[in-house]
Amino acid sequence: MSETVTPSATEGEAGTVVIVGAGHAGGRAALQLRRRGHAGRVVMIGAEAELPYERPPLSKGYLKGTESAGDMALRPAEDWATERIEHIAGATVTAIDPAARAVELADGRRIGFDHAICATGGRARALPVPGADALLGLRDLADAAALRARLAGARRLVVVGGGVIGLEVAATACALGCAVTVLEAGPRVMARILPPEASDWLAGRHAAAGVEIRTGVHISQVVPLGDGSIVVETGAGPVAADLGLYAIGIVPEAGLVRGARVGASGGLATDAFCRVEGTEGRVFAIGDIAETPNPVLGRPARLETWRNAETQAAAVAATLCGTPTQAQETPWMWTDQLGHNIQVVGAWEGRGETLWRGAPGAPGSVLFWLEGARVRGAVLIDAGREKRFVEGLVAAGTPVDPAALADPAQRLKALLQAPAAAG
Ligand SMILES: Cc1cc2nc3c(=O)[nH]c(=O)nc-3n(C[C@H](O)[C@H](O)[C@H](O)COP(=O)(O)OP(=O)(O)OC[C@H]3O[C@@H](n4cnc5c(N)ncnc54)[C@H](O)[C@@H]3O)c2cc1C
Repeated sequence: MSETVTPSATEGEAGTVVIVGAGHAGGRAALQLRRRGHAGRVVMIGAEAELPYERPPLSKGYLKGTESAGDMALRPAEDWATERIEHIAGATVTAIDPAARAVELADGRRIGFDHAICATGGRARALPVPGADALLGLRDLADAAALRARLAGARRLVVVGGGVIGLEVAATACALGCAVTVLEAGPRVMARILPPEASDWLAGRHAAAGVEIRTGVHISQVVPLGDGSIVVETGAGPVAADLGLYAIGIVPEAGLVRGARVGASGGLATDAFCRVEGTEGRVFAIGDIAETPNPVLGRPARLETWRNAETQAAAVAATLCGTPTQAQETPWMWTDQLGHNIQVVGAWEGRGETLWRGAPGAPGSVLFWLEGARVRGAVLIDAGREKRFVEGLVAAGTPVDPAALADPAQRLKALLQAPAAAG
């Protein structure tokens, strides 16, 4: 079948907006366009069968069975038609051509646009060893449904990768009564996000809950045993399990936009307005795929977080509706593991002095990292109430007195309002 939507800039300044990727950022951008008064067509094209939904429950409540697919939906199904947002489901886009102002679909359709938004996220990075396809991955609802079904009958789970998703699944499976082994190649867990002290605390919590974490593990192959169970061969011996998951990061889906530059992170390089370089303002990139200058970090960054998807979607919608808006994001993410809510503000870059506020790892404690006297980031352990003050300290970059920062009796709000002399 051949369908063509033609660009029509007369409908409004932004004209027909085609959104490629109907995930969190894409769905939010469509809704924000309507909220901000965009009158033209909004066409959302997604490879998945589902309407846009939020992914964080996939490794938490949905996997545990306490949240349904409906709970994760960005909006009830009927709202999308009410908002006049067209959804082409189960369709893969093969190219976004800024010069021709058209997207090309795998089924041969071409759809024209005045502006396009690339919100294609990423796919789970494959484990490059023989037999790895016997492991499950986790990126979308179909993956989570398959994992949930298999977990129900499993007694032993092996997780390859001690990052956020691997550890969340480990914690969930542990709560479901499964014996879990996590195999991590690096020297510590969540090393990309957490300073060593926080990694050590978290690994200790997992060990106390019965999750076995092995670090510095080299995997040579995965052997499927025919009955669904597997043996993971490692440099330190075999690990047998009923079920295996690989969770070693994502590969951004960055190859679609013709003439675009892929940045150092593997994402689409954009300016501060999320406009993809080399597309003359016709194509935007948002969410996990976008490598965008980050004013807080002082460099371009690709953030794989729920809030970044929200912030960039809103900024681009505002720009397309006539209010040029930069995506100003202080990096922030959360993870829920073993009954703990862990939030990370800023981006750990492997440097800086760390200091604990409160007893290390105790509920309400915060691990800060500083450069000089400036707070660059923090890990909040069951301390969500402090988030906005911590964000304020990181975003402002004003100097603080480290002794006051470490003292729970001194309110963070007060430190934010009365910074110390420059250090
Ligand atoms: C299991 C899991 C747990 C998470 N937990 C947290 C958390 O606790 N806290 C947090 O801050 N963040 C969390 N995240 C991250 C957060 O969900 C992502 O940052 C967010 O989903 C990014 O939105 P996105 O729209 O960029 O990508 P996605 O939501 O992945 O959407 C991308 C969409 O594009 C589609 N697509 C890709 N290529 C094409 C193509 N060529 N044609 C058509 N469609 C295409 C995909 O099928 C997908 O539907 C989690 C992510 C996962 C997977």
